[in-house]
Amino acid sequence: MQPDRNAMSDADFAAELRAWLEAVYPPHWRDPVLRLRGRDAEWWYARQWQDGWRAPAWPREHGGLGLSVEKLILYHRVTEDFGIARTLDHGVKQVGPILVQYGTEAQRAACLRPILEGTQTWCQGYSEPGAGSDLAALRTRAEREGDSFRVNGQKIWTTQAEESTHLYFLARTSAAPKKQMGISLFLVRRDAPGITVRPIRNLLGEREFYEVFFDDLLVPADAVVGAVDQGWTVAKALLGHERFAQGSPALARHTYRLLCAMAGPLGAFDDPAFADRIARLGCDLSDADALYAENCAGVASGADLGDSLPIAKLVAAELFQAMTECLQDLAAEARARPGCGVSAARIDEAARVYLMSRPYTIFGGTAEVQRNIMARSLLPLRD
Ligand SMILES: Cc1cc2nc3c(=O)[nH]c(=O)nc-3n(C[C@H](O)[C@H](O)[C@H](O)COP(=O)(O)OP(=O)(O)OC[C@H]3O[C@@H](n4cnc5c(N)ncnc54)[C@H](O)[C@@H]3O)c2cc1C
Repeated sequence: MQPDRNAMSDADFAAELRAWLEAVYPPHWRDPVLRLRGRDAEWWYARQWQDGWRAPAWPREHGGLGLSVEKLILYHRVTEDFGIARTLDHGVKQVGPILVQYGTEAQRAACLRPILEGTQTWCQGYSEPGAGSDLAALRTRAEREGDSFRVNGQKIWTTQAEESTHLYFLARTSAAPKKQMGISLFLVRRDAPGITVRPIRNLLGEREFYEVFFDDLLVPADAVVGAVDQGWTVAKALLGHERFAQGSPALARHTYRLLCAMAGPLGAFDDPAFADRIARLGCDLSDADALYAENCAGVASGADLGDSLPIAKLVAAELFQAMTECLQDLAAEARARPGCGVSAARIDEAARVYLMSRPYTIFGGTAEVQRNIMARSLLPLRD
């Protein structure tokens, strides 16, 4: 069992976490834009587990740290400030919480411990061609055959499908009058016969996400999480206090620092138009920080944040993109002025951050969809 740190003072907790990161975290991974993958990610998961810092939000009886909401917020703050790289970690962030809430004993026994140890890694098969924002329009079919389901269909944009050991996915198990009904959530080994993956290259040219094809895949009926046909409820039921982290402006803050570092040698602060632009971005960053802090406080006090979460996610994503656009403009100027004091590595970094920021207004609900949610909550609109 991992240690119980809830009784520690906040200062001691933060100091211990920080000291542990200083001691074990590889310095070349201190880059919030970086995303660890494959063996690197597995090494980090295993190290977290070995040192008792894995699965901060999972209940202790299921092997997690069982942190209180206050400590969980602090955990995110310290790790963000330290600059740890991003990880997909669907096992800890999605599958574990779903199994704790809806899984059978057998499913928990098969998955929770290997997820904690970092030996079982998960990818998410929700989106399909024609079913992204409108996820309930999904058409992958799972037909009952005795003790199994036979699955046929296709997923798309499945991040890190190739390197994950397991896949959780939604499929239609019965025709129902409402499209959100008749959907079930399945767990399956990624290398099961009947699953084929095909990479899609992202803007950076990396094999980040995949098409996943199901051709007569046979899945045992006990691989359904929750009740058959109730997958929509299961899929949407993620622990609320995990979701607030999406509104963190950590990446915008990181890019703001890159901006200031590049603007100095270029003398950009002497240009009134640039000074105005960066001042606005700085003010927007303060606003985003304040919104995030307000949400954290709301979560800590047990308030229902409701529509504040999409607003914070949208603000953080769009600000991150605005920062990277400004950074790209500076990088273009630096490229045109050799010997200006900005290194080629910094110029390349600007391009990488810019490209990496683009999907932030797409995944986890597009900017337009977030605006719809906001509009519905703030304006007297009908569906
Ligand atoms: C980097 C990245 C990683 C991803 N990883 C995964 C993953 O691991 N697993 C997974 O299942 N999915 C994943 N996705 C898919 C992601 O969830 C979808 O891209 C997203 O839900 C949007 O769906 P779509 O691409 O089908 O676009 P569409 O839903 O077809 O939308 C196209 C455009 O129409 C707009 N639009 C759609 N509906 C409305 C509406 N009602 N009102 C206004 N505008 C609307 C959208 O905002 C968008 O601009 C990933 C996506 C990205 C970019």
